[in-house]
This record gives sequence, C-alpha cells and structure tokens, in this order.
Amino acid sequence: MTTASSHFIIVTYPLQSHLNPALQFAKRLLHIGARVTIAAAASGYRRMFKDSIPEGITIAVISDGCDVGHDPTDGSDAAINDYIAKLKLHGARTLGELIGKSANEGRPVTCVVYSILLSWAADVARKFNVPSALLWIQSATMLNIYYHYFYGYANVIKECEKDPSWSLDLPGLNLQLKARDLPSFVMPSSPYTFALPAFREQFEELEKESNPKIFVNTYNELEPEALRSIEKFSPVAVGPLLPSSLLDGTDPSGDSLDIAFFRRSEDYIPWLNSRSESSVIYVSFGSISVLSRRQTGEIARALLDTSRPFLWVIREKAGGEEESEEDSLTCMDELEKRGLIVPWCCQVEVLSHPAVGCFVTHCGWNSSLESLSCGVPVVACPQWSDQLTNARMIEDVWKTGVRVRKDEEGVVESGEMKRCFEIVMESEEMRKNAKKWRELAVEASEDNLKILRDFVQEVGDDSVGKE
Ligand code: UDP
Repeated sequence: MTTASSHFIIVTYPLQSHLNPALQFAKRLLHIGARVTIAAAASGYRRMFKDSIPEGITIAVISDGCDVGHDPTDGSDAAINDYIAKLKLHGARTLGELIGKSANEGRPVTCVVYSILLSWAADVARKFNVPSALLWIQSATMLNIYYHYFYGYANVIKECEKDPSWSLDLPGLNLQLKARDLPSFVMPSSPYTFALPAFREQFEELEKESNPKIFVNTYNELEPEALRSIEKFSPVAVGPLLPSSLLDGTDPSGDSLDIAFFRRSEDYIPWLNSRSESSVIYVSFGSISVLSRRQTGEIARALLDTSRPFLWVIREKAGGEEESEEDSLTCMDELEKRGLIVPWCCQVEVLSHPAVGCFVTHCGWNSSLESLSCGVPVVACPQWSDQLTNARMIEDVWKTGVRVRKDEEGVVESGEMKRCFEIVMESEEMRKNAKKWRELAVEASEDNLKILRDFVQEVGDDSVGKE
C-alpha cells in the first residue's frame, strides 16, 4: 500500500537519454500509487513533442536561463559548460519555487529524484527538508569507474592513457580495461571535460547525505559486481527502465512513449511488418552523435554491399550543426531503393519487432540496455563518453555483439562494417545470449517494482515541503 500523498518531483536534463528513463521511472511510481511531476528545463520543454503525456504525470517547467529564444548550446564543450552553469543557477531557484508551490497547493513533495549533471537538486531538496535520490542513467559499471576515479584512482587512470598496452584493474569490474575502453571524460586528452566537475559535485553531494540513495538503470544480473563494489553509497538497481509493455510482451506502441525531442516518422512499422524474421539491420547512433561525412559514407557503402534490408535513423540537422548526415550522402536514391531511412523512430518499438536481426549502435547506455532487454545482438560502434566502456561490456561480458575496428582516422571502413554485420546476423551464439539477457530483464523488472514500492513507502510519510 502506498499513500496517495506521495508526490515525487523528477528533475531531468534536456536530452532524450535522460528523459526516457526518467519517464519510465515516473510511470513505475505512478503505477504504485504516487503522484509525479517531471521538472523540465525551459529550453528542453519548448523542444518537446508532448503528444501523449501519460495520465497522472504533470510536466512543470523550471528555468535554465534560456526560457525564450533559440537553442542554448551548439554542442561545444564551452557551450555545454555554460548551459550546465545556467541550469544550476536558475534551475535551483525555480525548483525551490515549485516545491514551495506544491506545498501551498496541498501536494507537498515527498521526494526529489534527479538525473546526472543535476546534483544541485539534492541541495534544494535538503533546504526544504525533503529527501532526494539520484537516478543514475548510465550503467553501474560507469558509476563504479567514476566512483573509483574520484576515490583514489585518478592518477592510475591518467597513466593508462599514456600507455595503450596497459590494463586497468578496478574493484567491481570483472575484466581489465584498456585506455580505449575508458569513458572519454576521464582521459586527460579528451576535448570534452564538462561532465567531470559535475560528477565530482555529484559524489560530494552524496557525501552530505546521511542515507544517500542512488537508483541505477540496470539490473542485478547484468552488473552484480559493479553494484556491490560501491559499498559506500549502496546503489540499487531499478532497471531496465523501459516500457512495461515491452517487457511483458504486450504491444509497446500502446504504452505512450511519446515525450520526445524529435518527431517520429510513421512508416517504419508497416515496412518492418513486410520483412521476414530477424532479417533487418537496424542502424541508429542515438540522439546526439553526429557522424563525420566519411563515416556516414562508409556505413552507406556497407549497407549497399549487403543483400540485407536495413532501417537507418538519420536525424535531421539540429541547431548548431553545419550539415546533417543526410546532406553528406551522395547515394540517397540507391539507399532508399534498398532500405528505409527515417529521421526518428520509437527505438524500443523497432527493437522489439521480430523482423530486426541486428542493431548497429553507438552504444549509448539506453540503446545498450534496450538491445539487451529486447534480445537483439549488436554491432558496437562507440564514439565517446561511456559508449566505449559499454561496447567492451557488450563484446566481452554480455557477449551479445562484436565491436568494430577503426582505421587510423577513427573511421570504420565499409568492409569492416560489413564483416561485423555478417558475423552478428549469422551468430546463433550472440542471439542466444541476447535472448538470455532479455529473459533476465523481464524477471528483474518485476522484482524492481517491489524495491520502488518499498522506497515510496519509506519516504511516503515524510512529506514536508516547508523551509
Ligand atoms: N531513440 C529513439 N529513436 C531513435 C533514436 C534513438 O527512440 O530514432 C532513443 C533510444 O531508444 C534511447 C535514446 O533515444 O532511449 C538514446 O539514448 P542513448 O543513451 O542510447 O544515447 P544518446 O542519445 O544519449 O547518445
């Protein structure tokens, strides 16, 4: 039993990979009787397609200092840093106002849940005497790597980059990592630094809590050692945070998935319906990565060189990008004769379709978890950030895919890409492993609902909402 007074605010960063697990987390809370408000940053809220907001979930806008006008970031490190600072400054103030307003309106906030890069939300919650919890939307392995980076291993990890033959043995990882497997944020030579200070602040924030709570979008069977090794903060697995209809085998399109930053196309399900089982190569590099002109061309060539049907997501040009991947393709007509190219789809709907035989992915954590939970083997093409570690886990721990080899310019040539398509499409072993991870995901999803129910109960009677 949960109290009808339980009211959770979930604060999200305006990216698809933060929004999707937050939304599924919200739906689980709703399912067990809590009210949920998703606090969305103003510039992200403006960009959202809100066709089907699940009944019972309210979206409230908090300020990010970019409340009117154009897109606040062009994707450069400096612009992202600037945006994170603005969101902290204005978001903290307006989140406080939202908590105060909820109390005044008789819906006091029971708990503030916040996604990564937003640890200031815990500070705001504390001022109002409201408990908070971190929703860690990457893998437990990544949490483990960042944790050890800040708790004694920073110098060891830095050394690793100097010598590519060197292997890193971290507690809680059941394999040795090479420099090419480590998240780019911890590498001294990485052009991207924005996440590291935010992760440091995150751990400092958790240290202030007497009973810190971290929910991780994973399941125990997938990363048992990583979850256990961060004893200090006892992270709890609540994943996979995917539509329940996907996990219980009912129709995922019936489960409203549709608060998105992109407008999805309509034509891919009829197209998939007309393909035979496990015949289609699905290609998508997530919501942020933009491939180089050469890389896009190599993928196109590989797809044209196979005899297999393919579904390829090529996003439209976003603000700040000079050209879209589509602009750089010279063989569009040929590609459209052989496969389907869409600007956006509902990926979990695609991955759960029986026609899909392999997923060519950049290995963002959501995409990785979705491939495992849908039982689809992958061609792993990591670009940066945690994708490098996820790709290593896919190949060597979960054994559901093969990682591409890049040339000296960091590009995967068409021959290599095609070689990987063929290995994955033909591998019974990978398909069997992927099916096993799907079954475990389904079981975990039932167990993890109980964990959330207990948590809602734990914080349910402490709704305060006053300074
Ligand atoms: N996604 C989608 N449709 C697409 C491409 C991506 O629904 O056409 C979703 C995908 O299911 C995943 C998210 O966008 O949940 C991307 O998150 P991920 O962590 O994989 O990568 P990121 O976008 O952060 O690089």
